[in-house]
Amino acid sequence: MLNVPPQAFPAPSSQQRVAASGRAKVPLKPGRSLMDWIQLTKSGKDLTGLKGRLIEVTEDELAKHNKKEDCWICIRGFVYNVTPYMEYHPGGEDELMKAAGTDGTDLFDQVHRWVNYESMLKECLVGRMTVKPVAAPKEISSALSEEKKRLNGMLPEKKALGASAKDLTPSYDWFQTDSSITIVIYTKKKEMNAESVVVDCQDKRLRGEIIMDDHSYLIEVDLIHAVQEDMTVNIAEKVGKVEITLKKKDNIHWKILGHPLESHNTFIKRTDRGLFYRKCKLASKTEVTHDTKLLCLMLPKSTHLQVPTGQHIYLKQIIAGTEVVKPYTPVLPSLPLDFKEPFHRDGAYIYLMIKIYSSGLFTQALDHLQIGDYISVSNPEGNFKKSQVQTSEDLFLLAAGTGFTPMVKLLNFTLTEVSCLRTVKLIFFNKTEDDILWRNQLEQLALKDERFEVQFILSQPTKDWVGKQGKISSSLLSEFVKRSRKDSKVLICICGPTPFTEQGVQYLKDLGYCQEEIHAFTA
Ligand code: FAD
Ligand code: NAD
Repeated sequence: MLNVPPQAFPAPSSQQRVAASGRAKVPLKPGRSLMDWIQLTKSGKDLTGLKGRLIEVTEDELAKHNKKEDCWICIRGFVYNVTPYMEYHPGGEDELMKAAGTDGTDLFDQVHRWVNYESMLKECLVGRMTVKPVAAPKEISSALSEEKKRLNGMLPEKKALGASAKDLTPSYDWFQTDSSITIVIYTKKKEMNAESVVVDCQDKRLRGEIIMDDHSYLIEVDLIHAVQEDMTVNIAEKVGKVEITLKKKDNIHWKILGHPLESHNTFIKRTDRGLFYRKCKLASKTEVTHDTKLLCLMLPKSTHLQVPTGQHIYLKQIIAGTEVVKPYTPVLPSLPLDFKEPFHRDGAYIYLMIKIYSSGLFTQALDHLQIGDYISVSNPEGNFKKSQVQTSEDLFLLAAGTGFTPMVKLLNFTLTEVSCLRTVKLIFFNKTEDDILWRNQLEQLALKDERFEVQFILSQPTKDWVGKQGKISSSLLSEFVKRSRKDSKVLICICGPTPFTEQGVQYLKDLGYCQEEIHAFTA
């Protein structure tokens, strides 16, 4: 794909697979970077071989284009000639070929549904499939078709669903006072929390998404009248009720709430819901090390969003006329040194610790953003669940370089809220001393909290380094990853460059740790 990451297409082969869903990156030939691809797409060259014509493609026709030198792939009903893209695919030609001549939608979604292939491959568009072979989103319920086109304040009627799906499907209602509108969502799920609710209200467009395990409930409405910028979101955690209160701009009586948008009142698998972006303002940019910066992004007043521990967001920028998307893992503004009280996020800011690569397409563009500039930020994603660590006695964090980022909130969460926790050990791999992120804060934390220990390991130390050196290895891990008691409950989290994570997971398995005791952070 086109975009960013590792590989946009088919799932990795078993040898390449990193724990849960990692993916391999193959070295690209010189002149085959993402920027080179963008330049080729802007060159005016006929990349489809159809001289700009769009055609209707039958399944038989699609199947004929299944070779490296003539490769078409269908994604969500649109057919692309990816032959010219072969050498530019970060996941390698073989991965792309797995979808040659077929519908690659599912394979694509498994790996990087967030990659903006429409933008990246627009010059490769051959046309539409005559019969759309793509699977429609698997909805548990969409009341939209049966709901009145205008929301009149009544609870939407239920679709004829299977009993269990019906029981699960949230519903909503709304009411008003002279000055406010309140939308109430009944999730029917106990123990909802603020991180499960993402609300945006921009230009009279209200979007409220409730994440319920691996499903997503959405209300999405064009409001009938204007509202003020600020809103409040209240969550009655125990009963699973979410209240969104908007302030009317004019004190008039609203006869209806507004007009439902396409995905309004749907309850579908989370992975079938497209990513939603809002523009956030760059509030500050501070240096962490010689090449890494802490960016503070301010959410709009009309957004309620808190990124859960262990999850990431996507940033989107237009680079040379093409939308480019990359994942980043929010951190805290600093490491709170007193973990007695939970860290109170005010929710209005997102902090990102980002390494600026001298040849990096995205990070170079990020580095050129000025304070006050805007950038698009997505809803959170990720497969880490707090429950994985809630009963842990020993937590090991294996981080390499910016792979430290998911460990920040994890440290905060476990040291504050996991009562059975006995030890937390961060084993932090870097090239040189100058690359160590928040070294001072980590050392102070280790002095303050006896449960926490940090070990720095350098792969390219200077002569003066008296600490540990080397790269991740079985012997290093057997030295540092040890249960505090014979059968203590352990979680080992690992994050860094893909080979680091892949090797680490393998070494841990060789040392006898099971899959449930290991969590690898990947996109
Ligand atoms: P590219 O243009 O893709 O690459 C240019 C050059 O930069 C490469 O040749 C290489 O020398 C170097 N480079 C680029 N990417 C990498 C890499 N991944 N590993 C080693 N060298 C590389 N990064 C952060 O700084 N902070 C985060 O919080 C963060 N969170 C992430 C979360 C997830 C889930 C994932 C998958 C990645 C995360 N990353 C994070 C990495 C980030 O998404 C980008 O890959 C990174 O910013 C480089 O983008 P680029 O376009 O500037 O570099
Ligand atoms: P880096 O190049 O500075 O390397 C840091 C350390 O990683 C090295 O000192 C070495 O010990 C180890 N390492 C590097 N390459 C290795 C290899 N091939 N085999 C074994 N060990 C190796 O690291 P960086 O530039 O800061 O990169 C950090 C990486 O973490 C990026 O690839 C980024 O995408 C990834 N990351 C992933 C997530 C996530 O998936 N959630 C979050 C943040 C960062």
